[in-house]
Amino acid sequence: MINIDELKKIISESNNMVFFGGAGVSTESGIPDFRSTDGLYNQKYDYPPETILSYTFYRQNTDEFYRFYRDKMLCLTAKPNAAHRKLAEWERDGKLKAVITQNIDGLHQAAGSEKVIELHGSVLRNYCETCRAFYSAEDVLNAEGVPTCKCGGPIKPDVVLYEESLDHGVLTEAVNYLSNADLLIIGGTSLVVYPAAGLVDYFKGRNLVVINKTTTHRDKLANLVLQGNIGEIFSAL
Ligand code: ZN
Repeated sequence: MINIDELKKIISESNNMVFFGGAGVSTESGIPDFRSTDGLYNQKYDYPPETILSYTFYRQNTDEFYRFYRDKMLCLTAKPNAAHRKLAEWERDGKLKAVITQNIDGLHQAAGSEKVIELHGSVLRNYCETCRAFYSAEDVLNAEGVPTCKCGGPIKPDVVLYEESLDHGVLTEAVNYLSNADLLIIGGTSLVVYPAAGLVDYFKGRNLVVINKTTTHRDKLANLVLQGNIGEIFSAL
């Protein structure tokens, strides 16, 4: 495949690579993308996922939020795929400086990546809203109804819900890595969720590569576009 050879060449010439990823990176690990046509949108629930995953809904219908969240968002048996593993390998080799992800599943760290900037938080971290005590994803999964702290306070996942702001420190770190990179690979994201998608504007480096199943509005600015499953493409590298 000609594009794979081109991608190999671009990667071989970089030693300051940043990867910016979305749901498509995790779908090959069995984690559903609720925005894709075969994702959660087409499953039966009383409300659309974007309503359930909003801060207002979380506050007003916490029980229903957790019913959906446990059922659809906590995929604790998922394992990293070829894309996660390749990114971790590039970081160990000193080529890749950071993974910036919109995913909340912790699979990059499970694959061995260390510099992972989680724009939308992680299901693996949960805190009591009253005393800030930490709880694991298993604690949330195994609780009945709304998970509750020993102190009696409600436990909230450390994920950025719709209507909530992204963490300022996390954004600043992402901007720093993007603005210094010489190669940016955007993978498994259709770049429709803002403000996360707007971050790629900070990239000023030499080579932009987009790998996604469908076209994105960045394709025309990219040096190289590969359409397909990112795990499959990365396993060919
Ligand atoms: Zn507490």
